[in-house]
Amino acid sequence: MHRGRLLGVPDAVTALAKPSIDAVRAAIRKAEGGARRPPGSVHLLAVSKARTAAEVRAAHRHGLRDFGENYAQEAIAKVQALADLDITWHFIGAIQSNKTRDLARHFQWIHTVDRAKVAKRLSAAAERDLDICIQVNIDAEPQKAGVDPDGLPALVSCVADLPRLKLRGLMVIPEPGDPRDSFRRTRQLFDGLAPSAGDHWDTLSMGMSDDFTDAIAEGATLVRIGTAIFGPRL
Ligand SMILES: *Cc1c(COP(=O)(O)O)cnc(C)c1O
Repeated sequence: MHRGRLLGVPDAVTALAKPSIDAVRAAIRKAEGGARRPPGSVHLLAVSKARTAAEVRAAHRHGLRDFGENYAQEAIAKVQALADLDITWHFIGAIQSNKTRDLARHFQWIHTVDRAKVAKRLSAAAERDLDICIQVNIDAEPQKAGVDPDGLPALVSCVADLPRLKLRGLMVIPEPGDPRDSFRRTRQLFDGLAPSAGDHWDTLSMGMSDDFTDAIAEGATLVRIGTAIFGPRL
């Protein structure tokens, strides 16, 4: 067997992940300061899609506790392989309505609820409270997931009334180009909905490796970072 496979892999993974995690944390602190927001007001969600369970374990050793996955099947294998760790799992992928039972069982957070049917199915399947964000298609892009801004108030009232769903806030993936304006409009929607969204409304899930400092400047409370932590996906 190749020598690196026997000896090098866990250490190499650890050595790679640590400096990049530190760099991301430092960049988050700096962006918080730049926006005059308190240190620690932005949560770091490590996006582990396409990463091995060993890579997630190494990142956990460096203090990360929240991990995000896009594909139910790939994620569930990892959730099971890492059941010995205190990880909070977040689902951030497109939701097929026939997968809602699996999602409700294996994830604590679901960031991508974008229609009432999925919300109702998650509520019916949940055996404990689930933390929910509604994905908004802020730029009304035809191909993109997320509820259009026009349909958002109705979906917010629907989710807020469903048992077992704790409605935490909004999630967004802006159109490519200049994301800052999209982040700002998402924040405005978030603020406008606060009076009707219930007691748990505290989360703006926005910002990825390329744009998280802009997202923090516009009020993100949770950033979803893959590449800047783990390197490029192959
Ligand atoms: C993949 C993904 C991310 C992380 O993207 P990076 O550019 O690797 O940081 C964040 N959010 C969602 C919804 C994703 O699918």
